[in-house]
Amino acid sequence: MGAPAEAGEGSGAPETPVPTYGWQEIRKHSLPTDKWVVIERKVYDISRWADRHPGGSRLISHHAGEDATDAFHAFHQDLSFVRKFLKPLLIGELAPGEPSQDRQQNEQLIEDFRVLRRTAEDLKLFEADTEFFSLILGHILLMEGLAWLVIYLLGTGWAPTILAAVVLAVSQAQCWCLQHDLGHVSVFKKSRWNHVAQQFVMGQLKGFSAHWWNFRHFQHHAKPNVFHKDPDVTVAPVFLLGESSVEYGKKKRRYLPYNHQHQYFFLIGPPLLTLVNFEVENLAYMLVCMRWTDLLWAMSFYVRFFTSYAPFYGLSGTLLLFASVRVLESHWFVWVTQMNHIPKEIGSEKHRDWISAQLEATCNVKQSLFNDWFSGHLNFQIEHHLFPTMPRHNYHKIAPLVKSLCVKHGLNYEVKPFLKALMDIVGSLKKSGDAWLEAYLHE
Ligand SMILES: [Zn+2]
Repeated sequence: MGAPAEAGEGSGAPETPVPTYGWQEIRKHSLPTDKWVVIERKVYDISRWADRHPGGSRLISHHAGEDATDAFHAFHQDLSFVRKFLKPLLIGELAPGEPSQDRQQNEQLIEDFRVLRRTAEDLKLFEADTEFFSLILGHILLMEGLAWLVIYLLGTGWAPTILAAVVLAVSQAQCWCLQHDLGHVSVFKKSRWNHVAQQFVMGQLKGFSAHWWNFRHFQHHAKPNVFHKDPDVTVAPVFLLGESSVEYGKKKRRYLPYNHQHQYFFLIGPPLLTLVNFEVENLAYMLVCMRWTDLLWAMSFYVRFFTSYAPFYGLSGTLLLFASVRVLESHWFVWVTQMNHIPKEIGSEKHRDWISAQLEATCNVKQSLFNDWFSGHLNFQIEHHLFPTMPRHNYHKIAPLVKSLCVKHGLNYEVKPFLKALMDIVGSLKKSGDAWLEAYLHE
């Protein structure tokens, strides 16, 4: 621990001076066993408390040694409740001469973003429309029922089976979106009910763990496209993205023919992500972290699925139907969730301010009725990343204000047509593969 930079102010009566610290000192406390964060100019020692952080130790630790004010606001809705936990962790304040933000960050941009956040709060854009989310759930349940009816009425021939698998895959894709909403947004007033609803959608309707999702996904939001912090881009040595390609090339690492990764991506990326990676990861997570409630929810999905379809297909046929649905939904998952991030900058931690960090790693896809529905409004990825707790039915209202803030500060507010966004994933993989080969051969 470093010595305080200078004593705090007194108020007449003798008071214990508040220790004050400079950024140089704070930055040193970003070690696994020694972590400080700054929130609204107050310094907190989270070293021992991080393990009890409801969002996970890794998530809060990604901000160690940094100003986490905007991340704090982005992730928490009931700030007065969260502040109660912070109080005992307070160890001091930023020294009076120190800027509120760390390193070379743009003070005006940070202030303008905070004004925009307050405007969104005043406009009540963080309030969820329960009817909207009920309709989404309703149309998911309808599709689940429809798939079963198709088999029941039309039989188990190829055509009805393919039709049912497609309907189920679309339903599963919409389930990803709805559980994602419930992980971020307070649809119910009581956070407990919100979490139960997420467990129901993720567990009973999908067979996965809600805690596993939040553990991964909140890290992605905290540090998008940052290696070793964002799990979505920590995919080496299978795929090389962004800065890792040249690094691997220089070190002469060749575990796979990376210059062909844009081709083998089609074989092992979209088809297998949810069927193989997610199934294995989920089971391991639930067992290691002892998430028994999640495990029960997930098991209830398999019981329902197999009792619904085994009478038509038998056990092995139902397993095949299940695998087909997973493969189909996996395509949706990879293409739709990665189109907003993979083509953007991917690399090591740059310690940018919240808005710049999100904008460098995120782009939008054009708005249309189909794109909104198909992507579950993930086409408004910039707005989602800046304000993760905002319900998606309000993104289009805040989007023009976000855009003008970006124009004012010269930030790249990128919007692409849907198909171009998909093609850019392949283009980025090819670019990284070529950069790897160049460095591998010549550096
Ligand atoms: Zn999200």
